Amino acid sequence: MKHLWILLALAVVTGAIANDAKQEAKNDEDKPKRQMLFTIFRPIMHDIGSRNTEKAEVVSGPVEMKMANNKQPGKQWWVRLDQSKFKVTIEDSAGLTLTNALVCAERIPTVYLRALEVVSEDEKAGLAFYKTLGGAAAHGGQSYLNMIPLKPARAASVIVHEAGHILEQRARNTDKDILEKWAEAVKKDNIDVSNYGNGANHEDQADFARIYAFCSDQTLGSNRLAELREFSPARFDLWENMLTLAGARQADAPAPAKSRDYSEQWKKRIKQLEDNLEAARATRDHGA
Ligand SMILES: [Zn+2]
Repeated sequence: MKHLWILLALAVVTGAIANDAKQEAKNDEDKPKRQMLFTIFRPIMHDIGSRNTEKAEVVSGPVEMKMANNKQPGKQWWVRLDQSKFKVTIEDSAGLTLTNALVCAERIPTVYLRALEVVSEDEKAGLAFYKTLGGAAAHGGQSYLNMIPLKPARAASVIVHEAGHILEQRARNTDKDILEKWAEAVKKDNIDVSNYGNGANHEDQADFARIYAFCSDQTLGSNRLAELREFSPARFDLWENMLTLAGARQADAPAPAKSRDYSEQWKKRIKQLEDNLEAARATRDHGA
């Protein structure tokens, strides 16, 4: 008998929780769902920098050294790419050649190379490759950009996110309220960047830096910055201001999109992007 009462009580409690969950789900449905930049631009978030033609060259090195994080043996070089000079450091056990490391750097948009200069100042290790980082793909801040070896397109996608942190911190040296301004911009724009970005204000900012990099890429023959600004103008203007504060050199204006020698795969991606933009505009204009 006693057991029955407990079972009944449990049933009531469980029922109450289930109802709450249903109510919450219903409230979520009632709320107009915010759109997400990563969803809209997903079709073109591939192959970043694959059409970059600038090659990195070794200025000096290698110098034998111990890795900052774990004191394991590694090698360090100074390299030049475009107008930037920075260090590349590779842990011996990472099994990565300098050539393969440079292929990753060559895919980064010119304007973001400033981040590699910042992490090469003084005793900093520059773009540093470790065999492992405790499960993470990369860590970045004004003092370091550590990552594990990845395929070039994936590596570049990771680097432009970390560059977002590095350049934000450098900009914050001049304007200490920059992240508060970012939170304001997020509210104004009324759109999300990514699920990951929703977890923290500074991750929203770093993932915006990532999508800005993809939208500025010449893989498409032209870039999509105008469309990015259309959907997220407050973040867009603040990020360009932060790039200037961080000392990044703006890239030359993109070449006119005359050679549209897209692969069939890219034609499909561009069509999908156009469809996504159209649907997002319709939702924005009718949802308001
Ligand atoms: Zn991050």
